Amino acid sequence: MGSTSETAPLLERKEGGKSDSASLNELTDLERADAAANVGFARVLSLAKPEAGKLIFATLALLIASTSDILIPKFGGKIIDIVSGDTQTPEDKARALEAVKNTILYIFLIVVVGSVSTALDDWLFSSASERVVARLRKRLFSHLIIQEIAFFDVTRTGELMSRLSEDTQIIKNAATTNLSHALSSLSTAFIGLGFMFFTSWKLTLLALAVVPATFIAVRKFGWFLRELSQKTQDAAAAAASMAEESFGAIRTVRSFAQEEYEISRYSKKVDETLKLGLKQAKVVGLFSGGIYTATSLPIILVVIYGAYLTITDSMSPGDLASFILYSLTVGHSISGLSGLYTMAMKAVGASRRVFQLLDRVSSMPMSGNKCPLGGQDGEVELDDVWFAYPSRPSHMVLKGITMKLQPGSKVALVGPSGGGKTTIANLIERFYDPNKGKILLNGVPLVEVSHKHLHKKISIVSQEPVLFNCSIEDNIAYGFDGKVDPADIENAAKMANAHEFISQFTDKYQTHVGERGVRLSGGQKQRVAIARALLMNPKILLLDEATSALDAESEYLVQDAMECLMKGRTVLVIAHRLSTVKRADKVLVVSEGEIVESGTHEDLLSNNGVYSALVSRQLQTMKPEKYKTEVETY
Ligand code: ADP
Ligand code: MG
Repeated sequence: MGSTSETAPLLERKEGGKSDSASLNELTDLERADAAANVGFARVLSLAKPEAGKLIFATLALLIASTSDILIPKFGGKIIDIVSGDTQTPEDKARALEAVKNTILYIFLIVVVGSVSTALDDWLFSSASERVVARLRKRLFSHLIIQEIAFFDVTRTGELMSRLSEDTQIIKNAATTNLSHALSSLSTAFIGLGFMFFTSWKLTLLALAVVPATFIAVRKFGWFLRELSQKTQDAAAAAASMAEESFGAIRTVRSFAQEEYEISRYSKKVDETLKLGLKQAKVVGLFSGGIYTATSLPIILVVIYGAYLTITDSMSPGDLASFILYSLTVGHSISGLSGLYTMAMKAVGASRRVFQLLDRVSSMPMSGNKCPLGGQDGEVELDDVWFAYPSRPSHMVLKGITMKLQPGSKVALVGPSGGGKTTIANLIERFYDPNKGKILLNGVPLVEVSHKHLHKKISIVSQEPVLFNCSIEDNIAYGFDGKVDPADIENAAKMANAHEFISQFTDKYQTHVGERGVRLSGGQKQRVAIARALLMNPKILLLDEATSALDAESEYLVQDAMECLMKGRTVLVIAHRLSTVKRADKVLVVSEGEIVESGTHEDLLSNNGVYSALVSRQLQTMKPEKYKTEVETY
């Protein structure tokens, strides 16, 4: 079953410095990864480009807010200077009180301006970030949905879901909210430093003594954390995929009573995530503690030296108080920055994965633009087609298939299971391209045919039709972008023998069918799918064992609908029932990827080959009463 190694070739990652201990000595690799990360970060920022105007406003608001932050200590210091000044005489006292009042008024104004700009700043940045994530999700989804089918053969849906929902969320925070906080902390720190220098350059230099060592430590920590969080997110994605698989197969789980097993399987995955998460928590905790020390120690030094400067009268007590408040504010901002740094490193990991997906080029571009009609519309030809599924390239599934579907003719494919019948239908639908040989629609290779045109001409009804979680009406009209006359829908349903059962539902055509159509029976689902194909009015119809999952009663109903469906079209029917095969103009027996016999039913029966063996085997395995009716219908 799907392991991460399966997805590795598609979601290939830079392996630089990925060892478990993430040794901090592998600088070259880490630095290379760092450069890549910077490119990734620039791309994240480029997502916010359409919000530039807003973001500039937000940044202005932010600068004002940061300045307010720093101005408060300044005026606080002023008050201390006033109260510690000469206040012996009543006039002095009155003057001091007046000065304090004025200063407090200033502080009040600063608080008002600061609050308004903080609100503006947060609002603008948050709304920009919502737009960024919406844009990113739409872009990612649009890009993923046009990837070739082979991509989905090897990539787990849960993995893609987690890219779409979680990674984009992390990127969103990094691109805007975090960026806003980072800018605000940075500007507070810089403005604060300016004020500090202005107040006392000696004290400032002392306070800055620890900066270089801290800087180096933070960088190394960032590298380490980035790798760790990448692993954590990978593990989380694996857990999500697992859960999705279990829920998707809930009936199988229930029928084998494997709930406990599924729980233990999921728990194991979650525990892997937990282990990494706990490691990350420890590292982040250590880091925050370190940063706290690195920002607090200088303050102690500042207090000691500042006290000396004040006592020796080189500094006023108010200045010292302001300075200490500045350094607390600056220290706080820098601690905040370290938290943002950890978030940013996570975002780099997330964006790396998202951009890898966004950069993935489909190996089967839908680039053709021809809309061939041919002399007689509805001709399909396979010319020496060789094919192996990309997920298992060593196993050649089709080995030189050559066949022609004449317009309006019915060709039946029969043969042992695993012989390659469905694969032929898949190739005609251009889910995959052949490795060798050509498939032509009205004489034009499929590669050159427009994607929309091809699928308007060809419809497929398969053994297990998948419906969408919407109303029956919307399911039948799928493929028409909602521009269908309800009368046409009803007509199609009538021809598909579906109208009767639909009318019995309380909500009629508005009945919701549930995820994948679980609220309908197999036969009902099949008939809705046939109505869907009928409404498309295709020239070419592919029926892949469309009735094999049905019981006799619903098969009878569907059979009728199928007859209706086949009228006047080119039909390739992959059949398991002799009654269907008998009516075909031509029967092709496919075995191990080759056409081993071809001709009409009667020709082949008299041949005494694979076909007649198949026929007699089917008759033998039938129950006596059914055998009777089948024989009668022949
Ligand atoms: P049939 O319809 O005749 O029973 P298929 O065309 O479904 O047979 O399958 C032919 C072979 O291709 C089988 O060996 C099967 O295992 C393989 N196969 C089918 N689908 C895939 C796929 N998506 N990826 C890899 N191998 C596949
Ligand atoms: Mg099949």
